[in-house]
Amino acid sequence: MIRKKVLVTGGAGFVGSHLCERLLNEGNEVYCLDNFFTGQKQNVVHLLSNPYFELIRHDVTTPFFIEADEIYNLACPASPIHYQYNPIKTMKTSVMGAINMLGLAKRINAKILQASTSEVYGNPLVHPQPESYWGNVNPIGERSCYDEGKRAAETLFIDYNKQNNVKIKIIRIFNTYGPRMHPNDGRVVSNFIVQALQNQDITVYGKGDQTRSFQYVDDLVEAMIKMMATPNEFIGPVNTGNPDEFTILELAEKVIKLTGSKSKIVYKPSPSDDPLMRKPDITLAKKELNWSPKVKLDSGLIKTIDFFKNTI
Ligand code: NAD
Ligand code: UDP
Repeated sequence: MIRKKVLVTGGAGFVGSHLCERLLNEGNEVYCLDNFFTGQKQNVVHLLSNPYFELIRHDVTTPFFIEADEIYNLACPASPIHYQYNPIKTMKTSVMGAINMLGLAKRINAKILQASTSEVYGNPLVHPQPESYWGNVNPIGERSCYDEGKRAAETLFIDYNKQNNVKIKIIRIFNTYGPRMHPNDGRVVSNFIVQALQNQDITVYGKGDQTRSFQYVDDLVEAMIKMMATPNEFIGPVNTGNPDEFTILELAEKVIKLTGSKSKIVYKPSPSDDPLMRKPDITLAKKELNWSPKVKLDSGLIKTIDFFKNTI
């Protein structure tokens, strides 16, 4: 077995911690880099005793040097509350983080994967969204620091590939949930589960008829690993998400049922630029990665509810 050296930026976050765990389980040496803005040591504490795991405090907006075979670039706050807290820093993290990590990949000849987002499609006018859709993004709205930052990062990845032959991979991640989501990050799955477990009102924004498709974190990690293993010519972008689409109201009802909660649904104003619908077209991922999501919403929610029962 070849033990690869793998750098995961944002490795102490929700998705990053699952990815580090999986990479270690496959026998790799993992360098988990994080500035702990939204990530926590708690997410990776169970990995610290593994001699092939290293936790590094570092901010991707400044250069970083290490020898590695592969880089997964996940560093970036992902929930609106966190990425809007300091929008300039969010943009810097996406753009300067991409430049620093691409520069590193170029220097050490590593393969590098960018965790992009369905937010590059903005409030989509095409449904479901294929990778060929260019998106409908507001460049000066509250979500712009994240959406445009991630779009600029994709541009940088493509140009480093064209100009410098850096081996790149881009995946566009749709809403993902699971254990180790931050309980206060305001994302809909964590909000509803925490509210339900505490028998508080479930806050549906708008009428609740907006749709999302929810991918369980293990399915995402599988797609990331498969994407990294594709031939060098295949760079993406590739959508990864679960195409089963639910309204936010349906999600609220499911969470109430699965937790056996006494919570009532209350309606709050919609946040600005809230996309009305989002559903991935995963034809390309099926073809190129031989991947499709396996975990149904109910079973993923049950695992996530169990996690929150033990942590809040
Ligand atoms: P998260 O907030 O839990 O993880 C992000 C991690 O990056 C955190 O550990 C944070 O501390 C770290 N980080 C932030 N800024 C940094 C910086 N300047 N330097 C170093 N580390 C920094 O979010 P997540 O849900 O795990 O998301 C991981 C990646 O996947 C992000 O890039 C996000 O944009 C992308 N993504 C996630 C989703 C989702 O639904 N979870 C959807 C689309 C894209
Ligand atoms: N949402 C909601 N109640 C909440 C949190 C979110 O109704 O307590 C809605 C939100 O307005 C959006 C959807 O759920 O329409 C998904 O929100 P999230 O922030 O999880 O992800 P994103 O908007 O990035 O898809």
